[in-house]
Amino acid sequence: MKVAVFSTRSYDIEYLDKANSEKHHELVYFESSLKQKTARLAENFNAVCVFVNDGLTKEVVEILGQSGVKLIALRCAGFNNVDVEAASKNNIRILRVASYSSTTVAEHAVALILTLNRKTHKAYNRVREGNFSIERLTGFELNGKTVGIIGTGRIGTAFASIMNGFGCRIVAYDRFPKPSLKDMEITYYPLDDVLKMSDIISLHCPLTPETHHLINRDSLMLMKKGVMLINTSRGKLIDTEAAIDALKDGHLGYLGIDVYEQEEKLFYRDLSEIIIPDDKISRLMTFPNVLITAHQAYFTDTALTQIAQTTVQNLTDFEHGDINPRNQVDSTMII
Ligand code: NAD
Repeated sequence: MKVAVFSTRSYDIEYLDKANSEKHHELVYFESSLKQKTARLAENFNAVCVFVNDGLTKEVVEILGQSGVKLIALRCAGFNNVDVEAASKNNIRILRVASYSSTTVAEHAVALILTLNRKTHKAYNRVREGNFSIERLTGFELNGKTVGIIGTGRIGTAFASIMNGFGCRIVAYDRFPKPSLKDMEITYYPLDDVLKMSDIISLHCPLTPETHHLINRDSLMLMKKGVMLINTSRGKLIDTEAAIDALKDGHLGYLGIDVYEQEEKLFYRDLSEIIIPDDKISRLMTFPNVLITAHQAYFTDTALTQIAQTTVQNLTDFEHGDINPRNQVDSTMII
């Protein structure tokens, strides 16, 4: 199958080529993201293969439909960047990588917590400069702290299991609680209660119209003063301006984010030699208690291998008319 692969970086090519070595799909790599300006590149391709920050709006999907594209193959689990109804209207199927090593993302959430708490990033820089002072590097013990998880799916559950190991008490909110998780010592509460009782809050729910700005001025005010907020899910779950104000007045004690509201214009690019046009991320970068990574929670060898293998399998399954229903995205999945 002839596939236009968008937003490709060296590692995408490496892992996809390896996964495709015996399947022999024709993968044509474009560094550019898929957007209205670049959608015509997909002319005469059977499929497009895209990632988290490709913008498959109604207009883009319509261009894909006119270009003969029959499949959108996502190299990720989230599908909030695709107009699912427009795809259906244009007779385009959507397949995703419904699950891959959930531990990978959960471990990154834990890395953000440990770094923010024990300030290892600052210690590293100090020691390299011959500064062996430990002034202002005080952390807190995780043992006995209450960790609130919003969304107890694959990643939220893996995260709970790790935090359990640290001796934390796990409380959670999920729109669809999973009774089976009671064995894991996860206790469900209404969202407001989880926000009120947690020392650390970690977001693991998908971005939907309902979860857009789930963390806003009101929900931030419900949280304990000095709370640590972690987001490895999607940037638009947090109202960034509200978070900045809560950081300024000290209510929000720590913020660790792997995803950011306006990340499409920033992440996966080297902008070190240009003026960053985004004032909100620039402000966030000034806080000593904010840690930002550029959507790399998924970035391990294990996950990249699984993502590439499932993506190539999705292409083959589609070609053979035998798709895996687990990986199919349709409008019934929009909450
Ligand atoms: P999942 O589908 O297994 O779990 C999502 C959970 O959220 C489910 O239990 C679901 O019931 C719950 N949920 C749905 N709507 C909710 C709501 N309104 N409020 C509370 N909970 C709600 O998904 P997953 O594999 O655990 O992934 C979670 C999210 O992590 C994805 O949606 C994606 O946005 C993000 N993600 C990020 C990275 C990264 O590199 N940073 C990588 C993979 C996934």
